[in-house]
Amino acid sequence: MRKLPRVLVVEDEPSIAELIAVNLRHNGFAPTVVFDGAAAQREVDAVLPDVILLDWMLPGESGASLARAWRKNERTKTIPILMLTARSDESDKVQGLDAGADDYITKPFSTQELLARIRAVLRRRAPEIVNDSVQVGELALDAATYRITFRGTELKVGPTEFKLLHYLMKHAERVHTRGTLLDKVWGDHVFIEERTVDVHVKRLRESLGEASGMIETVRGAGYRLTSMNNTGRPAQGAPISAA
Ligand code: CA
Repeated sequence: MRKLPRVLVVEDEPSIAELIAVNLRHNGFAPTVVFDGAAAQREVDAVLPDVILLDWMLPGESGASLARAWRKNERTKTIPILMLTARSDESDKVQGLDAGADDYITKPFSTQELLARIRAVLRRRAPEIVNDSVQVGELALDAATYRITFRGTELKVGPTEFKLLHYLMKHAERVHTRGTLLDKVWGDHVFIEERTVDVHVKRLRESLGEASGMIETVRGAGYRLTSMNNTGRPAQGAPISAA
């Protein structure tokens, strides 16, 4: 039920790109392969990947230049970038890291090394896609067993509502815009309407029953998950509007 981590592979050498894609697919990732920077940008504009494998030497715009541009952009600046380089020269690695790459890997590399590096950057930069458990007040969510409980009673929620709740709980007490939620939960804020978020928040509140007041609508801003006070009522100043 959990989505596979999306990996954008930007590599102009078809045999290497194919080898990487096959290995990623066999190991629980969802790879997309593009051969140049323009195609990579189109892909990033459409759907945010969870991690980018970026070749240093590309036809047209260089990997370093792409990495710099993504780091400057609000929407893409936190996507982990793993630079692929055929060079072993130390200064090139430093340049790659300076350009905004999180890590680099020198060709030729083993599949195991590549997978380990990808998992490492995902752990460091994208905790929300890790299977874990989180508790806010009396609401508990265990991503590994796919269970949600409130005051010890199990609640049933749909798969999208589960991901949405997981994200809100991991970032509790903070206000999230609909655009942020689309990026973080759906992986895309370009082609999905913001109203989609409202629909799923409404469904989530229905599933949460007594705990529904923990999800606050912050007028003109977005949504926030907050722990309830000990009377079991939503915290003060928690308007609950229809979606
Ligand atoms: Ca290349």
